[in-house]
Amino acid sequence: MIPSTPFQYELWINGQEVPSASGSKFNRKSPSHGVVVGEYAQADATDVDAAVRAAREAFDRGPWPWTPGAERMKVLLRATELIRQKKEELALIETLESGKPISQARDEVDWTADLWQYAASLCRNIHGDTYNTLGESMLGLVVREPIGVVGMITPWNFPLLIVSQKLPFALAVGCTCVIKPSELTSGTTLRLGRILADAGLPGGVVNIVSGFGDPVGARLSSHPDVDMMSFTGSTKVGKAVIKAAEGNVKKVELELGGKNPQIIFADADLAAAADAAVFGICFNQGECCNSGSRLIVQRPIVNEFVGKLGELMRAVSTGDPLDEKTKIGAIASKEQFDKIMGYIDEGRKAGAKLQLGGNSLPILNGQFIEPTIFADVTPEMAIAKEEIFGPVLSVLAFDTVEEAIKIANDTNYGLSASVWTSDFDTALSASRRIRAGTVWVNTFLEGYPELPFGGFKESGQGREVGRFAVEEFTELKTIQLHLGKKTSWWATSHEILP
Ligand code: NDP
Repeated sequence: MIPSTPFQYELWINGQEVPSASGSKFNRKSPSHGVVVGEYAQADATDVDAAVRAAREAFDRGPWPWTPGAERMKVLLRATELIRQKKEELALIETLESGKPISQARDEVDWTADLWQYAASLCRNIHGDTYNTLGESMLGLVVREPIGVVGMITPWNFPLLIVSQKLPFALAVGCTCVIKPSELTSGTTLRLGRILADAGLPGGVVNIVSGFGDPVGARLSSHPDVDMMSFTGSTKVGKAVIKAAEGNVKKVELELGGKNPQIIFADADLAAAADAAVFGICFNQGECCNSGSRLIVQRPIVNEFVGKLGELMRAVSTGDPLDEKTKIGAIASKEQFDKIMGYIDEGRKAGAKLQLGGNSLPILNGQFIEPTIFADVTPEMAIAKEEIFGPVLSVLAFDTVEEAIKIANDTNYGLSASVWTSDFDTALSASRRIRAGTVWVNTFLEGYPELPFGGFKESGQGREVGRFAVEEFTELKTIQLHLGKKTSWWATSHEILP
C-alpha cells in the first residue's frame, strides 16, 4: 500500500542523520502512481566535503581499518540480519521509487542480505603473501591494506542490490565510504545508514549523500581526499568519472552498460531457452545492465523460436507494481520512457519486423511499455548495438558458429552473454571466444556472491563481488625485512632499486 505520507530522509554523515547545509530538499514521485513517496535532503559540494572529511577521519584515525576481521565480520552479520528483518519496508521503498514489481523487490532484498552475509565471511580471509626465497638475509612480505576512502555512485535500477555489490566488500577489508545513490531511488541506501549504526558500525565509516549527479557525484569523483571511486551506471557518466578522478590519480572501478547476446543454437532445449529469453528481457522492465537484449538465433529455428517467445510474452502481466501478480512494472522515469519509445520508433524505421508489442500502456499514470519483440534485426541497426534499457528484444539470425560469435562480439559492450546448445564443444568454444565478463551456458541471469561480476570493453573495468571484489578495495604493500648484519652498499656488487 502507498503510505499516506512520503518517507522522510536526511543525509547520513558521521553516524548521524543531518539536514543538508543549504537546507534544500527534493522529492520523488512514484513512477507508477504519480504521488510523492520520498522527501530527501539535497546535498551539494559542501555536504560532500563534510562526508569525505568524516570518512577520511574514520580511516586515518581508525579504528575501523585496524579492527580485527572477526569483529568486522560480526558487524556485517548483524547488518545482514537487520536487512532481513526490514525486508518488507525496504522492498516497498524500492517498488515505490523505481516502479519494479514488489515480488522482485523482495527478491532483491534477499539477494542483498546474501551479499552482506558472504562479504562477512571474507573479513577473516584477507591476506597477502610471503617470499622466503630471496636469500638468507631477506624475507619479503606482500601485505594487503584497505585502499582508503572509497566513493560509491549508484544508479536507479537496483539501488539496494548494487550498493551491496560494493559496500560490504569495501567494509570487509577496512575501507571507509561515501555513497551517492541515484536521485531517483535514494531511499533504501539512506536507510542503510541507520541499519549499519544499529549493527555496530562506528560513525564516519559509511556516509551517504543524496542529491544530483552534478554537483554531488561530480564533486565526489574529483575529491582529492577520496582514494578510489566505484561507479555503476551509464558508460557516458563512467567516462566522466574517469576524467574527474585524474586530479589525484584515484583508482576507478566501473560497472557500466551492456548489450548482452544470447546465442540460441538449433540443438538447444528450446523451451528452456525461450523461457530464459522472456525472463531476460522482461525482468526489471528490461532496465538491467545484464538484460538479454540481443537474441542471436540459428536460422533454421528462428521463426519457430520467435513464435514461442511471442506466446510466452503475451502471458507476462504488466501492471501496478504493488500487485503481487505483476511481472513488469513502470518505467523508472519519463526520460527513460521516452528513450525506450524512441528506440522502438527507430527499430520500425530501420526496417526491423515488429513481432510483438511496441506500444505504451494506459495503466495508472501511463509510464508503462508493452514487452516488445523485433525480428529480422541486422547487426548494423541501432536496436542491435545500443543499450535500450527497456523491455525491447532484438532478434538476429545466424548460420554458423563463427557468424554467431562475430555478431555477439560486434558491440562496444562486453558485460555478459549466454550460449544455449546441447553440444559440449560448441558451448565451451563459444564461451571462450565471446568477449564478456560473464558467460552463462544453458541458463541466464543467475548470480552468486562467490562469482566475480564486471565487464570487458566499454562495460567497465575491475570486478565486483566474490573474493576478487575484496582485492579491488585493497592496495598491495611490499615489506622487505633484512635479517642479520647489513653490509655497506659500495662493498657489494648487488644491484639496488633506483
Ligand atoms: P547515469 O549514468 O546518468 O547515472 C548513474 C549515477 O551517476 C547516478 O547516481 C547519477 O546521479 C550519477 N551521475 C550523473 N552525472 C554524474 C556526474 N557528472 N558525475 C558523477 N556522477 C554522476 O545513469 P542514468 O540513471 O541516468 O541512466 C541512463 C542510462 O544509463 C540508462 O538508460 C542505461 O542505459 C544506463 N544505465 C546503466 C546501468 C547499469 O547498471 N550498468 C544502471 C543505470 C543506468 P543522478 O541520478 O542524480 O543523475
